[in-house]
Amino acid sequence: MRPEFADALERAGHGEQLTKNDLITLLNADKDESRTLFEAADQARANTLGDEVHFRGIIEFSNHCMKNCLYCGLRRDNQKLARYRLKPEEIIEGARETARLGCRTLVLQSGEDCYYSADMLGELIVKIKEELDLAITLSLGDRTKKDYGLLKKAGADRYLLKHETCDADLFSYLRPGTRLEERLERQVWLRETGYQVGSGNMVGLPGQSLETLAGDIILMREMGIEMAGIGPFIPGKQTPLAKASGGSLELSMKTLAATRLAMPGAHLPTTTSIASIHPQGRVKALQCGANVIMPNMTPRQYRASYMIYPGKLGLQDTPEDSYKRAVKAVNDACRTISRGHGHSLKYEKAV
Ligand code: SAH
Ligand code: SF4
Repeated sequence: MRPEFADALERAGHGEQLTKNDLITLLNADKDESRTLFEAADQARANTLGDEVHFRGIIEFSNHCMKNCLYCGLRRDNQKLARYRLKPEEIIEGARETARLGCRTLVLQSGEDCYYSADMLGELIVKIKEELDLAITLSLGDRTKKDYGLLKKAGADRYLLKHETCDADLFSYLRPGTRLEERLERQVWLRETGYQVGSGNMVGLPGQSLETLAGDIILMREMGIEMAGIGPFIPGKQTPLAKASGGSLELSMKTLAATRLAMPGAHLPTTTSIASIHPQGRVKALQCGANVIMPNMTPRQYRASYMIYPGKLGLQDTPEDSYKRAVKAVNDACRTISRGHGHSLKYEKAV
């Protein structure tokens, strides 16, 4: 084991703040070091958050998108994709199923689709909150500050808006017409509006280095991020990045583990992308720092069309199948399912 590696882990164990260089050292771990890194991250997760895994049922309610992100199959220029939109009543039905199965958080995710106005979504959130005991996370991409405010007022609790990469040039290349600075400004708006804010990145983007990944972690810590979705980039045939190589399981796990050590109290999901590149992806993620699973609650008939990337887990599943699949991963990892809402630690302390 390299001395600087052992030193970084030891300092993390004492609760010291890791530097960017420390994080690069951790991300550079060889096979043996990786095992130690994963154990340390697993221990940090157990110490700060315990053994419970939070379930966030996700409904992907629209695959229409105005944006043209180079990495994503929902991009506007992908004409081969059959587009769909769930009706508000279908979303409410999905929310009922999510609660019935036992999730305490509902994630509503979509492409950037202005068909759903903030008023329309607000009404939907009010109805769900009145009827069901669910925390609500929104993942709708870039919206106006006013929209974020309306949706918060309607009852949304959290918002997931990943920064994707801390490299500003790479960000603008991958998300044409947008800038990292604006994405981060939105995260600030969300925090100011009272949301628990989620961010995250993709691992293995073209042009990304270990230094970029370390920068991602530092950025999330500086932004006071409360949850972070970290998963491999998976190239899709119908995107301009079809020939890119994509992120590996190993580097995704190292990034997850390093993030856990840098942000011990954050909620870190086992992303569907990590579950999609390896049959044991979820269990492995739970064993190197993750404490959240997002079972897919999208009605089966729409799943194949929410093709953000190919090979996505559970395309033939019903919501119940997906729930059971998530339960199995928790059992396989010898963990327990949380029955609480799984708010961020900061939020729990405030109430
Ligand atoms: N439109 C919203 C939410 C849907 S996309 C938004 O962009 O914020 C949700 C997440 O999917 C993105 O944040 C991105 O990190 C991830 N994603 C997109 N394309 C991907 C790919 N090819 N491989 C892995 N993850 C991808
Ligand atoms: Fe649209 Fe989000 Fe995909 Fe970008 S990542 S194309 S904003 S769905």
